[in-house]
Amino acid sequence: MGCRSTLILKALQGLATMPAMSKQHQTCLVCGERLEEPHVYGDRLYCETHLSQFSDDLAALWQTGLLILLSLAVLVGTIAIANAVAPNPSGPTRLLANALVIGLPSIGWLILITQRLDGEDGAAPSLVSALFVLGSLMAAAVVRPLTNEILALGGRLAATSPANRFVANVLILGMLHAFVLYGIVRYSVWRTTSFSLRVHGVLYASAAGLGYAATQVGLFALERGGLSMLSGGLTLLTRALPFATASLIVGYFLGINRFENQPFYYLPSGVALAGAVCGVLLYAGTELNNIRLNITTDGFSPWPGFVVNVLALTIAFGAVYGLLQRQNTITKARLRLRG
Ligand SMILES: [Zn+2]
Repeated sequence: MGCRSTLILKALQGLATMPAMSKQHQTCLVCGERLEEPHVYGDRLYCETHLSQFSDDLAALWQTGLLILLSLAVLVGTIAIANAVAPNPSGPTRLLANALVIGLPSIGWLILITQRLDGEDGAAPSLVSALFVLGSLMAAAVVRPLTNEILALGGRLAATSPANRFVANVLILGMLHAFVLYGIVRYSVWRTTSFSLRVHGVLYASAAGLGYAATQVGLFALERGGLSMLSGGLTLLTRALPFATASLIVGYFLGINRFENQPFYYLPSGVALAGAVCGVLLYAGTELNNIRLNITTDGFSPWPGFVVNVLALTIAFGAVYGLLQRQNTITKARLRLRG
């Protein structure tokens, strides 16, 4: 017992002295290399290589993201044509069309980005794929059973008022999704050598977010035996976009906080912002279309929710890109000033 309390005391003392960066533990934040003369940035210690590297950009990430955003327009055009040619497809055809709508943007992004990562940018393509799978597993094995079976939110939300639905979407669903996406990245790659650039936050969180989104809407379609070609396809995209948007925001905050000390409320605020945005978009995506009345027929307009959610994702993409570019430019300028 005495031994255990001594251990606890030592652990507490260790925690108390951590910010002081004691001489014995001067290692690079990214690679863990022991440093005789460490470089300090934002109260964090770096080796020479990683100090100059962490503010580098990853052009492939933004190019691939932009390509996927543009491809959504092509995808929607294609399902509109397919819908005109075959307005009443059979169940298996519907499921196949749904699978393409879900898989092309998400798995397409994964294939493109892992091809473009060349090793010089510090990111590990295998980790990007692993996070995609992890996001998918968390959605299927943890979050969907929790929201749909344990909490039975679908039925409860359908029976309550729009104002209550809004609050529940923001405070329960949005926060839960954002926290899970945050947790996947935070407790896997965040402290590893493969997270060596600020923009890696967006890279890894997007991978987790797209795996998560694809599985969430894939199971949604499967449970209903496949949704109709056009409005069903649009519904699936609309329901997937809030997760992608949340992952961009979570990735931004994780990327910033990895390389600089921030106040204790910084990451929680980022997760809360992502959760609020996710919740509002989940609400807008369903409520604007009024889809809960009849989900498998084209008796409603699937467009308003889709347009709002695509615009939101585009704005989030532009904002996260702009903010990260600005932060990286400032860091590079500060490092140059130091000589
Ligand atoms: Zn290093």
